[in-house]
Amino acid sequence: MDKKIKISIVGSTGSIGTQALEVIEKLQDKFEIIALTGGSNIDLLKQQALKFRPKYVCSNKEIKIEGIQTLFGTEGLEEICSNKENDIILVAVSGKIGLKPTLKAIENGINIALANKETLVMAGDIVMQKAKESGVKIIPVDSEHCAIHQCIKKLSQVEKLIITASGGPFLHKTIEDMKNATVDEALAHPRWNMGRKITVDSATLMNKGLEIIEAHHLFNMPYEKIDVVVHPQSIVHSAIEYKDGSVIAQLGLPSMHIPIQYAITYPEKFEGIKSKSFSFSEIARLDFEKPDFEKFPSLNMAYSAGKEGGSATVCLNAANEEAVFAFLDGKIKLYDIYSITEKMMNSHKVIKTPSIDEIFAIDEEIRIKTKELIK
Ligand code: NDP
Ligand code: MG
Repeated sequence: MDKKIKISIVGSTGSIGTQALEVIEKLQDKFEIIALTGGSNIDLLKQQALKFRPKYVCSNKEIKIEGIQTLFGTEGLEEICSNKENDIILVAVSGKIGLKPTLKAIENGINIALANKETLVMAGDIVMQKAKESGVKIIPVDSEHCAIHQCIKKLSQVEKLIITASGGPFLHKTIEDMKNATVDEALAHPRWNMGRKITVDSATLMNKGLEIIEAHHLFNMPYEKIDVVVHPQSIVHSAIEYKDGSVIAQLGLPSMHIPIQYAITYPEKFEGIKSKSFSFSEIARLDFEKPDFEKFPSLNMAYSAGKEGGSATVCLNAANEEAVFAFLDGKIKLYDIYSITEKMMNSHKVIKTPSIDEIFAIDEEIRIKTKELIK
């Protein structure tokens, strides 16, 4: 029998994490779980641990599970990501918490299936450089980047990347509708069922903005060569254009199981979870349109932060995230997310090549200032 893939899931209690466990359940004979980690959802983490019997679990609360070693907090996370027993670590936490575990895994030569896009938005230059130096593979889980990863044979032949966007719940609503949107309306994503933060980002298209930056780092592509196209059906997950003008796209019915499965089993393509067989005639039509840059200022904010580089994207990420939390708490309106993020961006003095410590310090500073602004 083939050697099992030894995996840890950082963020196993989230939307990506639970779907990853569904993939692993389907491919039981292919995987051995080293560790599962959660934040505050202890009940679910315990259930998962009893079912999948990892060697370690880690959470933000002290817990006891018989026969399983329990670790605690960010130190626990880092210990798990330094454990060289792992062949691969799925980084599926949300927010800035993903960066340090990712760096630890890279330092220890462990391959990464990366869902946590904030890691690359905050520190893409450092993360990709370190991964290259230590020969670590970073396989994207984000459906668009996973699609591009599948399309590219030789990066030097690629002319541009074409990232698709569903357009979210406000695609055909007016700016006025968006300004008056409730939390529930913003969370009602037409295609994907995801965590709350990324769902709000999908409504403001900031998620697409963050994905532009993510793509820039993953595929070493200049921003001028990354396009966004709105595609409401979410069937074409993204595409690349070759230098000769031919376009290769990856298609499939919308499901996060498939990109998660691709990333954690790469380079194999095991038959685990299978989406319904694809039928062009049933799909019948695929629509594409230009994004509305005026209604969704997040796209230009992301392009300009990305082009500016350095700490500009740290600022974008931190200010946006704090504004999204404030929106979810009912403290601000949806459209305030843009104005708050923009204000923070305009007042930020960019550091061109920040160290990891500087990145965390800037992140912290921006969060404090954003909260003050929201008050
Ligand atoms: P969720 O909010 O559903 O899950 C987040 C996970 O992170 C949970 O396991 C949560 O634990 C854990 N977590 C959060 N804060 C902490 C903390 N301080 N310490 C330790 N663990 C913590 O998010 P998603 O699964 O939706 O997204 C995860 C990442 O994947 C994000 O970066 C997102 O952008 C990206 N992504 C998600 C997609 C999706 O379809 N959901 C698609 C593409 C990318 P707990 O719940 O126990 O507190
Ligand atoms: Mg995506």
